[in-house]
Amino acid sequence: MQVAVIGGGVVGVSTAYFLAAAGHQVVVIERYGNVAQETSYGNAGLLSASQAVPWAAPGMPRKIVSRLLKSETSVLLKPTMDAALWRWVRKWLPECDPERFRINTRRMQRVALYSQHLMRQVRDHYDMRYDQTTGLLQLFRTPQDVEAARSAIELLVEAGIEHRLIDTDAARAIEPALGVHTPLAAALHFPADESGNCPLFSRHLKNITQQLGAEFHFNSTVKNIEPDGERLRFHIDDRSFTADAVVLAAGIDSMELLAPLGIHVPLYPVKGYSATAFIKNFDQAPLASLFDETYKVAITRLGSRIRVAGTAELGSRTLHLHGTALRTLAKVGDDWFPDAANYNTSTFWCGARPMLADETPLIGPTPIRNLYINIGHGSSGWTMAAGCGKIVSDLVSGQTPDVDMEGLTLARYGKA
Ligand SMILES: Cc1cc2nc3c(=O)[nH]c(=O)nc-3n(C[C@H](O)[C@H](O)[C@H](O)COP(=O)(O)OP(=O)(O)OC[C@H]3O[C@@H](n4cnc5c(N)ncnc54)[C@H](O)[C@@H]3O)c2cc1C
Repeated sequence: MQVAVIGGGVVGVSTAYFLAAAGHQVVVIERYGNVAQETSYGNAGLLSASQAVPWAAPGMPRKIVSRLLKSETSVLLKPTMDAALWRWVRKWLPECDPERFRINTRRMQRVALYSQHLMRQVRDHYDMRYDQTTGLLQLFRTPQDVEAARSAIELLVEAGIEHRLIDTDAARAIEPALGVHTPLAAALHFPADESGNCPLFSRHLKNITQQLGAEFHFNSTVKNIEPDGERLRFHIDDRSFTADAVVLAAGIDSMELLAPLGIHVPLYPVKGYSATAFIKNFDQAPLASLFDETYKVAITRLGSRIRVAGTAELGSRTLHLHGTALRTLAKVGDDWFPDAANYNTSTFWCGARPMLADETPLIGPTPIRNLYINIGHGSSGWTMAAGCGKIVSDLVSGQTPDVDMEGLTLARYGKA
């Protein structure tokens, strides 16, 4: 089939790869000059099934409110009249219910584990290098943070995600440079989780996908999509094209293309930040990746650089850098690896997580024949990209995906 993939982020590129590998004639349309230039560009780089957990968790609303006015915080709320934000918050709040949390976590981890498996296959098959590391430490600063993680730990056991709750000494044995002046109550060690450089991976995968025959059209913005008999028609500038099938993987902007087709989903941009600094003292740098549970900030080693990433900012649709977020990242970097880098002189970046109210991606068919979606991956888009790409490719090919699709399609909003 002739398949057009709209969006050249890590999700679109992964989808294009599996479609091309399945023998389809694939065209990727991307508005920027290369792949992974938007949210996939500066993310934390975790490839982590253990962290594929919704923020909508029991106790989270209270935690968010208590942190809003702090000078360093995991959550920022910009006062706004944006009705879409308040509609989204109204849908997000019920997802903090313990049972909804369990359902959403199970769905996300099902996809993340499948994705991790495929990612390793692809990486080994093509001998890809993208600054990857293995192993992740989730750090709990206080006993209360450990206690709050109990229900998530139960779900790790259920999902079969390898983990070990360890004390401070064991954590320091894994990451010897971990700062001694910052309180650490305990840590969870995930030996199978990984991290790496997402845009570098995306560029490698783009090259491989091109070798499989796919075409990439850059600097091309799709204006709209419409049914055209058995095919789909889409417009780029004043030109019009058709394809047998279209996969929409346009991140947060997917909504603009879906709305005129009558498909409305609770997707909202949740802004996040990263700070990337060159390592000045290699003995004092992290060996792999870490996640500070209190501040919800990740620290990853990317070759000779360290990336500190996190913060959820609601209510801002611009890519303006907020001082509080940058301060929080610098603080967390200084807290855990104070002598590794100068975080204040980092390269700072922000991007919009394409976040659904229930935080599980939407993958698969739409009410429009031959139009598929691969959207809403929130905080775990790279972690899930390979799995979601393969699922969509299987569906386009008329095959049954390897994973149970319960709760992953538009049917969960009653729209498929
Ligand atoms: C601070 C931060 C940290 C994160 N950390 C992690 C992490 O550690 N691990 C993880 O797994 N995930 C992480 N994420 C989430 C992850 O980055 C995203 O889920 C993922 O990048 C989404 O990929 P995407 O391809 O859907 O979107 P994008 O990367 O935004 O790609 C969408 C593409 O579509 C293109 N596009 C949009 N509209 C059109 C159009 N009309 N025509 C043509 N092209 C169009 C855009 O230009 C863009 O390139 C993080 C996110 C942030 C912000």
